[in-house]
Amino acid sequence: MLIDLFYLLSICCFILGLKFLSSPRTARRGNLLSMAGMFIAVVVTLFEKQIIDYTYIVAGIIIGGLIGAVAARRVKMTAMPQMVAVFNAFGGAASALVVYAQFIRFPTLTDPATTITIVLSLFIGMLTFVGSMMAFGKLQGLVSGAPVVFPGHKALNALLHLIVLGAGVFFVLNPASHGLAILAAIVVLSGVIGITMVLPIGGADMPVVIALLNSYSGLAAAASGFVINNYVLIVSGALVGASGLILTDLMCKAMNRSLTNVLFGAVGQETGPAAGAAKRNVTRYTPLDAAMMLSNAQSVIIVPGYGLAVAQGQYALQEVAELLKKAGVGVRYAIHPVAGRMPGHMNVLLAEANVPYDMLKDLDEINEEFQNTDVVLIVGANDVVNPASREKGNPLSGMPILDVDKARSVIIIKRSLSPGFAGVDNELFYDPKTMMIFGDAKEMLVKISGALKEEI
Ligand code: NDP
Repeated sequence: MLIDLFYLLSICCFILGLKFLSSPRTARRGNLLSMAGMFIAVVVTLFEKQIIDYTYIVAGIIIGGLIGAVAARRVKMTAMPQMVAVFNAFGGAASALVVYAQFIRFPTLTDPATTITIVLSLFIGMLTFVGSMMAFGKLQGLVSGAPVVFPGHKALNALLHLIVLGAGVFFVLNPASHGLAILAAIVVLSGVIGITMVLPIGGADMPVVIALLNSYSGLAAAASGFVINNYVLIVSGALVGASGLILTDLMCKAMNRSLTNVLFGAVGQETGPAAGAAKRNVTRYTPLDAAMMLSNAQSVIIVPGYGLAVAQGQYALQEVAELLKKAGVGVRYAIHPVAGRMPGHMNVLLAEANVPYDMLKDLDEINEEFQNTDVVLIVGANDVVNPASREKGNPLSGMPILDVDKARSVIIIKRSLSPGFAGVDNELFYDPKTMMIFGDAKEMLVKISGALKEEI
């Protein structure tokens, strides 16, 4: 049948798209291909099934396209992680809505295979929707980024899961008896589980939960594909679910955490700045001092972090790196897997400024090199270089960091002594070999490159 051929075509687009997304060089192509695949799948399904007439299809494409285009233009690069969280949320909500609507249309859908997938899709879909909106709130600063736990939290969580399980079993056994009301209860309780799941997850562990919610949104879509008998939805959902799980595993490894530890451990409590931090001495440097120090070094490692993205300083940073290279200094970038606010954030940011890929070194590759390095230039990074992770009892404990304190000297560009996303004070600022340059990353980098141009 023609529709099957189109579905096959869109599935090929998804698989090839994912393949291309695995390298920064081909990621743009991967994105376009996957988008084309989704467009084909949506249009073909709507035409074939004749669910709605053409006017609705065209109106939907225009309204959805306009919202997407405006969002893509207006949302800043630094707000991309929040946007991804919202996308995950909408994916989960859409799956739950499709399944609920299907049961309203066909209340006679009573075979166990269908009713089980209805329950699964509603549970995972709503949990993903509310959990992702919570993650959005944490990333946007609307909800505290620190772990929030309350007495009886784990017991409440277990109780909610048990009630949902009981309601699900009841529905599967008696779908005709108050089916819609029971499903509505599952929807509400799953939403509450979404809140209790994300609230206790501590600042630095957010990447793990975002990757997991991404995977859940795929699983919810796959489950709803079974309910409405649409295999392109099953395949695309399974692809998102599986790639999200792989990403979750990578993020867990990057944080040196097990998934159960992140989900049930509520690692660390809120940690304010250390008492008396403001009274301690730090060594202040000017951009001019930094330019002299950098140009006299033989080896420099640059550590970018979230603040570089906020300042949009990637072009100025690459200019500094190029000037140093011209002066014969060995320059590399050290990329921590959770630097920034989304997986791969720093790679995307530096690719924008055309930083050659061979200059980017990941944590395992570069950590041994710090001890032989003259100067480490840290730009807007904090948690990923915070030695507090080597101690116990704080939200960063156990997370592998870039061992910048092993280098001969360290320059840090940031605006103040305030802590990073995890809220843990950073002893590195007070280390005698650390020079602090206080100010906006882009502004300071532009001044450093100006000074380098005069010097070299
Ligand atoms: P951090 O959030 O730890 O620190 C960023 C620092 O940048 C801040 O301390 C801030 O200090 C500084 N900063 C902000 N704006 C500017 C500016 N305009 N100019 C100069 N500096 C600026 O970032 P890291 O990249 O080190 O660590 C990432 C953190 O985010 C980790 O805890 C990670 O777990 C978490 N996270 C990561 C996600 C991911 O997928 N990668 C997702 C969600 C969370 P000041 O205000 O003093 O300038």
